[in-house]
Amino acid sequence: MSRKRRETDYKIDTLLGRLGRDPQRQHHVVNPPVYHASTLLFETVAELEEALRDKIGKGNLSYGRYGTPTTFALEDAIAQLEGGYGAIAVPTGLAAITSTLSAFTAAGDHILVTDSAYEPTRRVCDVLLRRFGVETTYYDPLVGAGIAELIRPNTRLVYLESPGSLTFEVQDVPAIAAAARRAGVVSIADNTWATPLYFNPLACGVDVSIVAGTKYVVGHADAMLGLVVTHEAHYKHVRRTVVSLGHAVAPDDVYLALRGLRTLSVRLARHHETGVKLAEWLQARPEVARVMHPALPDDPGHALWRRDFRGASGLFGALLHPYPSDAVVAMLDGLALFGMGVSWGGYESLVLPVQPERVRTATTWEAPGPVLRVHAGLEDPEDLIADLEAGFERLNRAAGEAAGHGEDR
Ligand SMILES: *Cc1c(COP(=O)(O)O)cnc(C)c1O
Repeated sequence: MSRKRRETDYKIDTLLGRLGRDPQRQHHVVNPPVYHASTLLFETVAELEEALRDKIGKGNLSYGRYGTPTTFALEDAIAQLEGGYGAIAVPTGLAAITSTLSAFTAAGDHILVTDSAYEPTRRVCDVLLRRFGVETTYYDPLVGAGIAELIRPNTRLVYLESPGSLTFEVQDVPAIAAAARRAGVVSIADNTWATPLYFNPLACGVDVSIVAGTKYVVGHADAMLGLVVTHEAHYKHVRRTVVSLGHAVAPDDVYLALRGLRTLSVRLARHHETGVKLAEWLQARPEVARVMHPALPDDPGHALWRRDFRGASGLFGALLHPYPSDAVVAMLDGLALFGMGVSWGGYESLVLPVQPERVRTATTWEAPGPVLRVHAGLEDPEDLIADLEAGFERLNRAAGEAAGHGEDR
């Protein structure tokens, strides 16, 4: 006797091809259709009232702002991958962060945010939340269970991001989440770096996971998207806040995210592999003081990364020895394959000079030289290494010339 396999029995690569699809219900077409909608029509008053009864319920079809079958296909897929009850799609990753932070705070509250958080997240806390009477304390990303000592009677949430933006510290997510839960405090983690494929914050005890779908889910640098994943207990509360803020995602962008999802696993595996190759090569260079990449065995976060993550994405940092800024400019301006620009997660490689010291308050970033943030794209790693090697030649030549001028004077 054969038993029909349940959808949840499938392994992740199979699920990525199946989630959010039902060809028999969509005229046999492989992919979910893109529904452009504001008004939805109902035949009877009873049908209309039924649709409007629970507008923030999962999959509610009453008005375009609450989502369409295209939105729900993506939300269901992401919720399953993250191991949550439901996902909520919003127009950007930052909208996901702002909505979630405002869902769980009110005037007089205190929140704890990792010092390694994405810079715009800090601005939300320092400007917007502060104006609404919410106080933020930044904590050392390596605090671990010590977070318990920072929790005050009015602390409402603990915000995590692992690895950290720019400096890639790996947090002890289970320890921090457990301490928060013991104190009755909500924990929220930004899971953009690893994506639901390589890390599941909810499985580590976190209450809410946030993914900037703009990065790897969309994966082609052509759409903005944010996702919030929660357990059932918090779902309607967060959804109500998102609806109050007026967020709705454009259907074509949802479609691009669904399409990106189908290839996420193969893309990420390649980002991981090339990222490690570039990181190892950079680490052996005399110009480089330290590479910040948790998959490198001597990275301080390596043990935690191995314990909690299933892989690494393509984003990491490289700290150079001290060089004059002109020399770094000469290196970067001449790169042929690495683009310069914010954001990441697309198919192309990127490099960006960054200044972690400008966005740290609980900890100090004392590094002697410039820091580069590298995104390993899907190009051939040998070509990428050749591009970097030529960059280092320009760096050394420019630094040598600068030193020469110094002697003349
Ligand atoms: C890019 C990014 C975001 C914000 O996503 P947007 O879609 O650009 O608003 C949030 N968190 C992290 C870690 C990011 O890198």
